[in-house]
Amino acid sequence: MESKESTNIIKRKINDVEQVLEHLRKKDKRMIVAMAPSVRVSLGEGFGCKIGENVEGKIITAFRKLGFDDVFDVDFGADLTVVEEANEFVNRFLNSDRLPMFTSCCPAWVKFVETMYPEFISHISTCKSPQQMLAGVVKTFYAEKLKVKPSDLYFVTVMPCIAKKSERLRPGMSAGKCGPDTDAVLTVREMIGIIKSKNIDFMNLEDGEFDKILGLSSGSGVIFGTTGGVMEASLRTLMDRLSRKDIKNVEYLIVRGLGGIKEGSIKVGDREIRVAVVSGLNNAKILLDEIKEGKKNFDFVEVMACPGGCSNGTGMPMYSKNQAENTKIAEIRAKGLYKTDKKKNARKSHKNPAIKKLYKDYLGEIGGERAKEILHTKYKRVKMK
Ligand code: SF4
Repeated sequence: MESKESTNIIKRKINDVEQVLEHLRKKDKRMIVAMAPSVRVSLGEGFGCKIGENVEGKIITAFRKLGFDDVFDVDFGADLTVVEEANEFVNRFLNSDRLPMFTSCCPAWVKFVETMYPEFISHISTCKSPQQMLAGVVKTFYAEKLKVKPSDLYFVTVMPCIAKKSERLRPGMSAGKCGPDTDAVLTVREMIGIIKSKNIDFMNLEDGEFDKILGLSSGSGVIFGTTGGVMEASLRTLMDRLSRKDIKNVEYLIVRGLGGIKEGSIKVGDREIRVAVVSGLNNAKILLDEIKEGKKNFDFVEVMACPGGCSNGTGMPMYSKNQAENTKIAEIRAKGLYKTDKKKNARKSHKNPAIKKLYKDYLGEIGGERAKEILHTKYKRVKMK
């Protein structure tokens, strides 16, 4: 028998698809869509593309055929997350404040800490996830730019993840002050179903392009889609800041690969940054217990709830009930992301010209007042029911 919670999730999923289609039909709002990093190397699988093949151009064209007015990129949100998170880390690292700092872009991990390890809540980065940063910018900056009310915009994300559906409803996710900034979250499987239901000939679509204002991303934004990607992207920015150099080697191989717990350290001047990358909540539990018992010490820890990270998310095309087989597929998708990273003009988030322009024209200082208001959030202890 299905639990009450799973019935609610199923109802919400149906509502998300129906509500998005209804708004596309009615054209009562400006429809905006954005895809997560790992979506571009997985959605094509629903139409016979090779696993891990980046087909973002076709996906963009499919979105436009469905009737979306603007196609942005969650990778841009990931670049924003990196810039803010690296800044937060540098401040905490230099002041030995609440270390280790934990990443915050995986809502299932955040919920895990809030319910199971509340003593670590203050260690989680206050940065919103890429989805929620982009949503906040859409409902403030973009609404102001268009001279419309935030409520006239309908912002949809396509994600590898079911937990993102509840993340959008968390308190504090309303920078536009008109309800949740993200109006609907569709999984990759749901979007494949929508494209098929509209008889769009996906394989023969021309490549489209993102709307550049919130659609241009760096290689760092792209690699967010796999375990270790968030850490590597952050290192690319924070190492430049700490060393005061433009470091040429941007590939931090020690944090790559699908190992459940990866540990290492990076030298900067006469100091070392001790890092760990964890995927799978069972591995997170092991590491948190070791930190609690004083057996391990770190400065910065990335945690993603799904084994292998978002490339193995619960909203992805499914091939097997066997976790090990799914993790292998996640590895092929991750290779597609690293390949895309190599081709990018900018591989560091803080070098993304669209990010620089957004701070210059609208957000102000990194970690400043407006950035804090739109891009950061709070956490609180949640009692188990
Ligand atoms: Fe969602 Fe899994 Fe990615 Fe976490 S790791 S954000 S639960 S897909």
